[in-house]
Parts: sequence; C-alpha cells; structure tokens
Amino acid sequence: MLQVEAVDKSFGDFMAVCQANLSVGRGELVAVIGPNGAGKTTLFNLITGQLWPDRGEIIFGGEDISGLPSYQICKRGIARSFQIVNIFPRLTIFGNVQVAVLSQQRRSSNLFLPAQNLAVEETKSILESVGLSDKATHIAGSLSHGDQKILEIAIALGNEPELLILDEPTAGMSPEETAATLELIKNLASSKGLTILFCEHDMDVVFSIAQSIMVMHQGRTLVQGNPEEVKGNKKVQEAYLGGE
Ligand code: ADP
Ligand code: MG
Repeated sequence: MLQVEAVDKSFGDFMAVCQANLSVGRGELVAVIGPNGAGKTTLFNLITGQLWPDRGEIIFGGEDISGLPSYQICKRGIARSFQIVNIFPRLTIFGNVQVAVLSQQRRSSNLFLPAQNLAVEETKSILESVGLSDKATHIAGSLSHGDQKILEIAIALGNEPELLILDEPTAGMSPEETAATLELIKNLASSKGLTILFCEHDMDVVFSIAQSIMVMHQGRTLVQGNPEEVKGNKKVQEAYLGGE
C-alpha cells in the first residue's frame, strides 16, 4: 500500500532523514521505532505532505505522492494524528469529529444550511468506535490529555482513511490509558480493516502489537522486519545498546 524508497530530507546542512525506506502492506499494523531525533516525525511529515522530500519516492496505492500538498494526500486516503495534540479546543468533541467528516464529504458549500445537522450518524459512529460517545458534548479543550489524544484519532478517522498514521499515540499517557489506547488501535485495525502506521517509545507495546517494525537511527533505516527479526538484528542491538 505504501512504499517509501530512499527518501532524504535536510534542514540546512543537517540530514534529518537519509535514505529512509519503509514498506506498509494493506491491513498491516506497522511501527517505526528509534531514539528521539531519529527522524520518525520528519518521515511521517514527508509521507503526509507536511514536508516534501529532497530525493526519493513515496508511493501510495501505486502512485508517487511525494511533493503533493497535504490536503491532496489526505483526499487520497492517508490521515494522521500528531505527536503534539492538534484539535479545536473550543469546539465540542462531537464538533471536532463532525468537521472532519464534513470536510471529506465534499458537499456543495451552502452557507445557509445549518452544518450542525449534517453527518450526525457518521460522527456518532466514529465516537462510538473510539469510546468517546458519553463525552460527545464536552468541550475538547477541557478533556484530559489522554482523551485529547483519542479525540485526535477520531478526527483522523473522520477523513475515512485507508492508512492511518499515528505519531506517538500514547505520549504523555498513564499506563492505564496507554493500555486502553493500544487495545483501541488493535481493534481499529481488525474491526475496520484499517492499515495503521505508528511510532511509539514503549518497546513492550511495539513488540506486542506490531506485525512489522522499521527501526530508524540518525535518519536512516536500519532494518524493517517482523518483531523476531528486529529483536535478533545485530545493528539494532548495537544502536540501542551501544549508545549514541
Ligand atoms: P523523532 O520524531 O524521531 O524524535 P524528528 O523527526 O522530530 O525525530 O527530528 C529528527 C531531527 O531533525 C532532529 O534532530 C530534529 O531536531 C531535526 N528537525 C526536525 N524538524 C526540523 C526543522 N523543521 N528544522 C530543523 N531541524 C529539524
Ligand atoms: Mg517525533
């Protein structure tokens, strides 16, 4: 479904992503791991069009999407959440998700049609699937950090993606919230048949739920393989155990 091939991205003289490769098959749950500064967020920004690569190809559904603006990439079926929460804090939970659903429905814009009555069922069903139904009328900015991160996933689902990209979905969460969020991610993958690409610091988590793991180090891809292959890989052991 997604193929990242030899992608580079520099900021001035500094190469944040260098010859990165990544492969995501349809229906897979794929993790990108690596220490802080390894280039994970930059790679996600390149895939979703927040940044454009200097070199290399990003093929999604057989077409090169590198260099497309992010709204076009979103329309083609890739949605994401951010490492730093990105919601409309003054809208309700329901409103946040409804805006996302409406944005992909491409209705003819009629300023005189009350928007609050549109896409209600779709929005409700998404809130149900992430467990936020009972808080639908709460103001998003008043939610706990954990619920805000879940809301971000719900907003991404509003775009009806084929590929969902989650940048540190459990960052800043308590152990209980982390466990619940991982359960949610696994369920979304299986019940909605979603393909999910995520990065995450907690190795126990990654090795327990990911089918394929790509390891990044100093902007480069060290290896991609199933959990067993990655655990047993010498380069990975050196990069993690030998320090930087
Ligand atoms: P990760 O998500 O793996 O922690 P990032 O992709 O955020 O890593 O960052 C990779 C490297 O690129 C870091 O050294 C970071 O400081 C640098 N970097 C990221 N974005 C920018 C930017 N816009 N300008 C300059 N340097 C950046
Ligand atoms: Mg990051």
